[in-house]
Amino acid sequence: MTIENQEIRLAHGGGGSLTQKLLEEIFLPSFDNRTLNLLEDSAVVETPSSKLAFTTDSFVVHPLFFPGGDIGRLAVCGTVNDLAVMGAVPLYLSVGFIIEEGFKLSDLKKIVSSMKISAEEANVKIVTGDTKVVERGSADGLFINTSGVGQLTEDFCPSSTKICVGDQIVVSGLLGKHGMAIITAREDFGFTTTIQSDVAPLNHLVKDMMGVTKKIHAMRDATRGGVATVLNEMALQSKIAIKLEETKLPIGEDVRGGCELLGFDPLYMANEGVLVAFVESQEAENLLDVMKRNKLGKASEIIGKVMDGPAGRVTIRTVLGSHRIVDKLSGEQLPRIC
Ligand code: MG
Repeated sequence: MTIENQEIRLAHGGGGSLTQKLLEEIFLPSFDNRTLNLLEDSAVVETPSSKLAFTTDSFVVHPLFFPGGDIGRLAVCGTVNDLAVMGAVPLYLSVGFIIEEGFKLSDLKKIVSSMKISAEEANVKIVTGDTKVVERGSADGLFINTSGVGQLTEDFCPSSTKICVGDQIVVSGLLGKHGMAIITAREDFGFTTTIQSDVAPLNHLVKDMMGVTKKIHAMRDATRGGVATVLNEMALQSKIAIKLEETKLPIGEDVRGGCELLGFDPLYMANEGVLVAFVESQEAENLLDVMKRNKLGKASEIIGKVMDGPAGRVTIRTVLGSHRIVDKLSGEQLPRIC
């Protein structure tokens, strides 16, 4: 039987011969590396420094395939980006698959191959993993968890605690593309666009940024809840205020139009390939120049700056010159966005 007609069965997760077949035919050929191939209970890895960043994330995006990406690419890039924005060089990932009985093997193969390509792009190795199969109706097709470790250098550890009054705030790309791509992919919105998700590994961009200045005080990837949510969190944590300039926000006409139609605000839309960086004022223009030269940073802009209180307050000067508060998102704008 060709893979096209095969489905995941409970026994694929049972640890027996079907599990072995899944490993040998799908996972191992894609993630192929010496550490994983040993198939021990843990991966034993070399780390070049003693200081590591360690993160985990689960992916439940619906639908599994969307314009510009799929759950596999998202699961690799999401974890890579959480390491990268801490200034860590991503090294190793783990991957856990929770698969519903009846899931098409051909779809699993597509997703695994997309993970392989994304991991190569980010230069990380998937060194350990796990597969569980649950009965029909117990999961919506496929959920993926990835964890990752990355290497930190002693002289560069960005953190919200390091944000200073006067810092400039830079974003690395057009806002809201992932959120809008997911909306487009869901039939219930009855909405079509050509917008593609921005899902991408940001570690090479971060490397370029670190090459210009070590005075990047903090970074975050602006995923769920968008730039507005990330900035609110950071302003609270570092007890500073933030002032944004609406005219500086990089928003494509397609996302702007879609948001207007559906009543969403691009500032709150999810991104999967956009980071926000707080940098010392004198370094901001240099940093921006270098970011714009990276293909993932072409649309970078300085969008605002850090003010001296009130702690946690984010405001924006609108196109018309008035000021308004940019609040935290209350509730979920769009469930299962990542
Ligand atoms: Mg993050």
